Amino acid sequence: MQFLNLSDPTDTASFEQAVRRGLGRGQGLYFPESIPVVAELDALLDLPFAERSAVLLAELTGLDVATLRPIVTTAFDFPLELIAVDERVNALELFHGPSLAFKDFGARFMAGCLSAFSDGSPTTILTATSGDTGAAVAHAFHGKPGVEAVILYPKGRITPLQEKLFCTLGGNIRTVAIEADFDTCQAMVKQAFDDEELRTRLGLNSANSINVARLLAQVCYYFEAVAKLGGREAVFCVPSGNFGNVTAGCVARAMGLPMRRILAATNINDTVPRYLADGQWAPKDTVATLSNAMDISRPNNFPRVEELARRAGTPISAFIDSVAVTDADTTAAVGALHEKGYLADPHSALAWRALDASLGDDETGVFACTAHPAKFAEVIEEAIGLQVPLPDALAQVRDLEVLSATIPGDFTALRGLLMD
Ligand SMILES: *Cc1c(COP(=O)(O)O)cnc(C)c1O
Repeated sequence: MQFLNLSDPTDTASFEQAVRRGLGRGQGLYFPESIPVVAELDALLDLPFAERSAVLLAELTGLDVATLRPIVTTAFDFPLELIAVDERVNALELFHGPSLAFKDFGARFMAGCLSAFSDGSPTTILTATSGDTGAAVAHAFHGKPGVEAVILYPKGRITPLQEKLFCTLGGNIRTVAIEADFDTCQAMVKQAFDDEELRTRLGLNSANSINVARLLAQVCYYFEAVAKLGGREAVFCVPSGNFGNVTAGCVARAMGLPMRRILAATNINDTVPRYLADGQWAPKDTVATLSNAMDISRPNNFPRVEELARRAGTPISAFIDSVAVTDADTTAAVGALHEKGYLADPHSALAWRALDASLGDDETGVFACTAHPAKFAEVIEEAIGLQVPLPDALAQVRDLEVLSATIPGDFTALRGLLMD
């Protein structure tokens, strides 16, 4: 399988090259040259999750099933649940991995690929996090031979529990508290990538969410959801920020997975819903909301959705639906779901709200649950006055020592630390 740079058709890559480079020339996104349609869907749906995922990823990447099987088995080693919330609606729980968010699927598969592709020369994953991505990346790369991960975060601006979740691992995971805000952390990472000597000496890679390995890994759980529904066609609703998760859903549909409609739910950072309504791409300033992992007004995966629509010959507004949900409706949704006996974090509850409003009487719906409710215990307590018990993964790290170094928010300090 060839991968094309969507901004520069002369820039092509194998899967391995696309994963190692992350971004293509001119900051372009890599994407499979064509989406393979699966043969024998029923037989595929009958396979166990890991085996089916290896087959799907072999189709999408061009790697052998035998190469992918051990990577996938290690990466997807946690449960995935489909819970009926009522007669029509199901929660697809994607948050049972080590960082309690769906990003574990993509980060762990990418880590397994980079480790498998390693030729012995050092690889350093350098990434900045405002909270959640850091945890997924740290757990994904922890203990992987030949790879070191360096994760920057703004000191004192993530929750103590978030910090414990990824700054207590040690080994090949170095966490660095920066005495500055998240934008500065991100600027420092960019500067490191512009530093030719650093880049080659350390083999820098960003593990950024636009890496195509992270995207393709997420295709697999849509097949699992349909398998758990017994092949029934459902409306899927995905809480969306950078639109990677929902892009993966669109890829699954393009591969032949029966999906009735795909709905991307956003918070009031609603660039895409407005774009689908009036054809104008007009991002506004990003606003802070209760679903903070989706506080994004320039979703960087959207060109991939447009490419899929173009290939399908469908206008974008008919290819995907998108709805914005306010904080007030998100809070109400947490409460409404709790009354049905289901506890959801704000991101997942927001998706349920959008799905519930759109679902026809004769339709089945699935909403993606992207984070464990305990990660957003404060919001839930505020919404419904309920204390969320700490799951084991959080309870275990609560008393561990934070191992981070602290440096000022300037590049010279980071360079010194990296060269050390
Ligand atoms: C990252 C994230 C999202 C948004 O996913 P995208 O792929 O960026 O659209 C939604 N919910 C949670 C909890 C997240 O961490």
